[in-house]
Amino acid sequence: MSAPEPPLTQPGGAQPPLNRPDSQGFDPQQPPAQKLLDACVHCGFCLATCPSYRVIGKETDSPRGRIYLMNGINKGEIPLTATTAQHFDSCLGCLACVTTCPSGVQYDQLIAATRPQIERNHQRPISDLALRTLIFNLFPYPQRLRSILPLLWLYQRSGLQSVLQSTGMLNRLFPRLGAMESMLPKVTAAAFRDQLPRLIPAQGERRYRVGMILGCVQRLFFSPVNAATVRVLTANGCEVVIPPDQGCCAALPAHQGQQAQAQNLARQMIDAFAQTPVDAVIINAAGCGHTLKEYGALLADDPAYQAKAKQFAAQVQDVHEFLATKDHSSPL
Ligand code: SF4
Ligand code: SF4
Repeated sequence: MSAPEPPLTQPGGAQPPLNRPDSQGFDPQQPPAQKLLDACVHCGFCLATCPSYRVIGKETDSPRGRIYLMNGINKGEIPLTATTAQHFDSCLGCLACVTTCPSGVQYDQLIAATRPQIERNHQRPISDLALRTLIFNLFPYPQRLRSILPLLWLYQRSGLQSVLQSTGMLNRLFPRLGAMESMLPKVTAAAFRDQLPRLIPAQGERRYRVGMILGCVQRLFFSPVNAATVRVLTANGCEVVIPPDQGCCAALPAHQGQQAQAQNLARQMIDAFAQTPVDAVIINAAGCGHTLKEYGALLADDPAYQAKAKQFAAQVQDVHEFLATKDHSSPL
């Protein structure tokens, strides 16, 4: 139960070629808005809440430092190079700095404008490109991800995982792959197919009809979270609808500046819900929720989708946000 999947592409999709030399700065296509940059008064309140600053300890890996870099690149005073790009790459996109900032700096919009600029105007090393190609062509597509599950299952059950982890071999040979592997959840039987039906009736009187987004990685590796979300919703009078053609919400490519791919996935998600009238579209993963609520901005330049995107985004609610505004029919 997921959307049709496109052919394999390089990161960037329909964006300009990747292997061109670094430019001197951002191009004119929606660079970070100067007005938003000017809102930063450099007070540094955000530094203590920024995880990348707390781990790396450099000003250039803090929100304030990144805003300074964006400003400099915008004005042509700082070049966009591998070094400057690295400081943007180290931003986790957690947006803790946004809620902390007393001046209301919209860092979320700034970093969202910066990332596609980096993809268009900075040449990444081949190894980086290879890893990113793998990630962007695999993770947002549940069917592709499912096709490698037998290998992952075998890897975990055969004892190879224990050997590689205990010897630290993978980390030494391929550190980034090792880091990804260390987060690999246990592959269970539930990962091999979607468990939830398309329609789950409310328990007792139906008070709401909500659509639910299953996620791409979540539906495979964290399906008990989706099942628990459905239980809570139905116990509180929600009929839950799960449109079968839904795919990835676009958060992964959007957070990495892969604008064309993110836009395609957003259009697909909107289409998947087009024939499903609901009171709200429910999401239970915060990063996905943020992107879903930004569909209006993501598709602002698409005349065929800009209105639909805004309408869809207005319906999106985190499950906690939704329940917090409703009378509960069951104790939570
Ligand atoms: S982003 Fe906000 S909190 Fe951080 S330095 Fe700028 S004004 Fe201060
Ligand atoms: S979004 Fe980036 S800059 Fe802001 S707190 Fe998170 S890691 Fe730091």
